[in-house]
Amino acid sequence: MSPKEYILLTPGPTPLPPSVRAKLGEPILHHRTHEFGKIFAQVIADMQYVFRTKATTLMMTCSGTGSMESAVANLLSPGDKTLVHSTGAFGNRFAKIQKAYGIEPMTIFEEWGEAAQPDRLRKLLQATPGGFKAVFFQHTDTSTGVVNDIETLAKVVRENSDALVVVDAISGLAAERLETDAWGVDVALTGSQKGLMNGPGLAFAAVSDKAWKAVLAAKLPRFYFDWRTMKDSLPDQETPYTPAVCMVVGQAEALRMIREEGIENVWKRTDALAEHTRKEVAGKLGLKLFAKNPANILTGAWLPDGVDGNKLLKEMLAEDKISIANGQEKLKGKIIRIAHMGHITKADVDAGIAALGRRLSKVGV
Ligand SMILES: *Cc1c(COP(=O)(O)O)cnc(C)c1O
Repeated sequence: MSPKEYILLTPGPTPLPPSVRAKLGEPILHHRTHEFGKIFAQVIADMQYVFRTKATTLMMTCSGTGSMESAVANLLSPGDKTLVHSTGAFGNRFAKIQKAYGIEPMTIFEEWGEAAQPDRLRKLLQATPGGFKAVFFQHTDTSTGVVNDIETLAKVVRENSDALVVVDAISGLAAERLETDAWGVDVALTGSQKGLMNGPGLAFAAVSDKAWKAVLAAKLPRFYFDWRTMKDSLPDQETPYTPAVCMVVGQAEALRMIREEGIENVWKRTDALAEHTRKEVAGKLGLKLFAKNPANILTGAWLPDGVDGNKLLKEMLAEDKISIANGQEKLKGKIIRIAHMGHITKADVDAGIAALGRRLSKVGV
């Protein structure tokens, strides 16, 4: 079976618009040319539009996690005190990356399905003399489908400390409102394969002036992910090393589409599809929704007791050619996650819900 017959309802990669696929198949350009430089510069400018920032914006050739690691390596020095406000698997990833670099973060663990509580954050900041170098958040935690109130959380950080605000917006960007500059986010991170409607392989970071001061002073080791070399190459419309040229060309087309639609309209469209999906999943299928503060990127729902989620999703993929995401870590086999960001359409979501409904009735639910 050709993979083109699959309906992808996964929170990354998400389906590619036909015009992006066509761009990915074009003859390759050399990366040290004026022609490529112009496309790269346009991608950076369009990313600033999507991030809602005037801050220096960098592109990296890696998946989203690489951008998370780059933030750790570029902002911190040995012995720095940091805080991770974790709402799921991706918050925990931020902590793991820091530990790999010898940093021992303090972590607030929210119960999975709950959003980050500003009051818990405020209390911890006020009870920590000396404060933190940086506080790390997820815009949306894809493992639970929760959206965090970054506007309020960033404000709490600013009012109670000097810490940098670092936000993983890898799944949230171009799906949920994010105002990098207006909300005082120092570093916003994202990847290409979710709301940005491109294949996996590119990541981006918007880095505020305050964060650049930390970058220049930071002592952790870095080479490939050194933001200083990336920034130095920007005036020449280049990257320090060979970028994923084809993905950049594809990204330019996806960003052109986002600009044409308007980022506010992208948020509204995603919001409407999320609302529709939650209604269908809770109403038509009768499943209990997972997140208390559900994001627009995906809908997570509990499977009824006794249903083997691993088996159900495997069969759905093999027989219906529909890919719905499983739960992660402790939620594997227990919840399903239906994505509705990027180029995913209402028809895709409806096909997924119908197939899920048929499979649930087959097992007697
Ligand atoms: C997808 C995702 C990542 C990064 O995953 P990669 O597989 O490295 O692209 C990080 N954080 C969140 C919230 C994500 O959704």
